[in-house]
Amino acid sequence: MKLLLLLAMTLTLVSCGPRPHSEIRPQLFDGQRAVRHVEQLVGYGPRPSGSVALGYAATYISAQLQEFGLETREQVFRASTPRGVMQFRNIIGQTRGRGGPGQVIVLGAHYDTKMFEDFRFVGANDGGSAVGVLLEIARVAGNQPNLWLVFFDGEECMVEYGPQDGLWGSRFFVEDLKGKQQVDWIKAFVLLDMVGDARLHITIPRNSTPALAQRVFDAARDMGYRDYFGYFNGHITDDHTPFLEAGIPAVNLIDFEYGSAPGLNDYWHTPHDSLDKINPRSLAITGQTTLRLIALLQNSPPLR
Ligand SMILES: [Zn+2]
Repeated sequence: MKLLLLLAMTLTLVSCGPRPHSEIRPQLFDGQRAVRHVEQLVGYGPRPSGSVALGYAATYISAQLQEFGLETREQVFRASTPRGVMQFRNIIGQTRGRGGPGQVIVLGAHYDTKMFEDFRFVGANDGGSAVGVLLEIARVAGNQPNLWLVFFDGEECMVEYGPQDGLWGSRFFVEDLKGKQQVDWIKAFVLLDMVGDARLHITIPRNSTPALAQRVFDAARDMGYRDYFGYFNGHITDDHTPFLEAGIPAVNLIDFEYGSAPGLNDYWHTPHDSLDKINPRSLAITGQTTLRLIALLQNSPPLR
């Protein structure tokens, strides 16, 4: 009898023993919480690079990341642009873990909005929605090791995308990785952009790493969301591009059919990109699929 009891206690101890890390639970992602982040950002008004409103957004993002227990740092840098020398500010939240080759999963979103002089552009979807999703992911997955959440400034170009215009934050981030010889630390880069439309259809551009795109489809299938994800019929220049150019597996989860009818993108970069278009379920579909993707990537061999 005594022996049996001892055995039972030993078994209990084994089952309660330390594990590498607790499992990700995508269902904990709450679309309403994500919407509230977007409301907060849109409340600051238009948020182009260099604006006071973008500074408020940066402070809000940093505070939220810290509340969820992530270590937060910033990259502040200057660059000459078609509008003269400007200052930019990336915000980075890091979970526990020391990094190392192939160890880190990076999620990204831009938090600036495109500057328009002839109308008030608040970028609820383009500049807001993906930030809301990333902050809610920080809450749910902040206990996971080696997860970096990066909020890019200066995604939007001022005149036309090129080596001297647009993607300021992501280009700086990748150059910084190169300087620190940490390019090979990044197992995968997952970019989220424009993910809040009620008629959600994530259109992964062809300039994404095929093996990583396949993992996205696998994750979406696991969550019962496979029908919301497909390929875009072409390339898209976005913050994942500098990562691809550096040889880092990268994918862009973007819904580039943001408009008044299926297949149209006529709300993009217009006054129609407003808070009323942001749908909690779309944020949840994107967020839960991304969380499932993180779990798949944690257990997968290198993608390159
Ligand atoms: Zn845009």
